[in-house]
Amino acid sequence: MTGPDAQTVLRLEGVGRVHGRGAAEVHALHPVDLEVRAGEFLAVMGPSGSGKSTLLALAGGLDRPSTGRVLVEGAPLAGLNRAELADVRRRSVGYVFQSYNLLPALTAAENIALPRELEGVPARTARAEALAVLGELGIGELADRFPEDMSGGQQQRVAIGRALSGQRRLVLADEPTGALDSTAGEAVLEVLRARCDAGAAVVMVTHDAAHASWADRVVFLRDGRLVAEQNTAGQGTAGAVRR
Ligand code: ADP
Ligand code: MG
Repeated sequence: MTGPDAQTVLRLEGVGRVHGRGAAEVHALHPVDLEVRAGEFLAVMGPSGSGKSTLLALAGGLDRPSTGRVLVEGAPLAGLNRAELADVRRRSVGYVFQSYNLLPALTAAENIALPRELEGVPARTARAEALAVLGELGIGELADRFPEDMSGGQQQRVAIGRALSGQRRLVLADEPTGALDSTAGEAVLEVLRARCDAGAAVVMVTHDAAHASWADRVVFLRDGRLVAEQNTAGQGTAGAVRR
C-alpha cells in the first residue's frame, strides 16, 4: 500500500456501539476517532465499564459498530464478507482476550501453533515459532502443558504468545498483564514493545499507569467517551503517566 495512510494500521472513524434499545439502551462506546500507526504502542485506560473491551473488540472485528467504521490496514471491515473478515482476523490481528480463551484440549505450544497452521504454515514451523515465543515470554518449560495445569498468569502468557506468533501487524491486548506479578508483567511489556519496534501496531488495555507508561500514547475512556489523550516518555521509563 502507498500514500499518506500507508503507515496507519488501525483507523476508527466515528466508531460507536450501543447495546439494547429504548430505556434499556447502553452506550458502551460513544463515537470515537482513533488512529494507530505501524510501530506505535497505544495504551487504553479507564475505569471498569468505561468501554475499553468494547473498543478493542470493535477494532479487532469481533464486534460490529452501531455507527462509524473500522479500517485495518486500510480495509474497511464492514466491506468484508465472513470469510474475508476471518482471514484478516487470522493473518493481521493478534488478539489477547481478557479471559485468555485457550483451548483446554490443546497444550500451550499447540494453542499457539494452531492459528498458524490454519493459515497454512507447516506444523513443524508453527511448533518452532510457538516454542520461540514461549521462550521470549519466559515460559518455555510450559510448552507441553495443558491449560488446566497452569496458573492464571501462565495461561495469560500463553494467550499472549498465541496473539504474537506470526508477523501480526496489529496486536490488541485486553489487560494482558492483569494476572501477572511485576516481573512477568514487565517481560510481557518488553515483548509487546519489541513487536512495536519491529513495526507492529499494539493497542493494550490496562489499569496500571506504570504499564501504560511503556506505551507511546495513552487514551482515557470514561462512561464510553474518550476523555483525554497523553503522550508518554515511552519505554517504561516514566514509571507513571506524565501529567
Ligand atoms: P470495560 O472493558 O472498560 O470494563 P466494557 O467495554 O466491557 O467495559 O463495557 C462498557 C459498557 O458496555 C458497560 O456498561 C457494559 O456493561 C456494557 N456492555 C458491554 N457489553 C454489553 C452487552 N453485550 N450488552 C449490554 N451491555 C454491554
Ligand atoms: Mg474490559
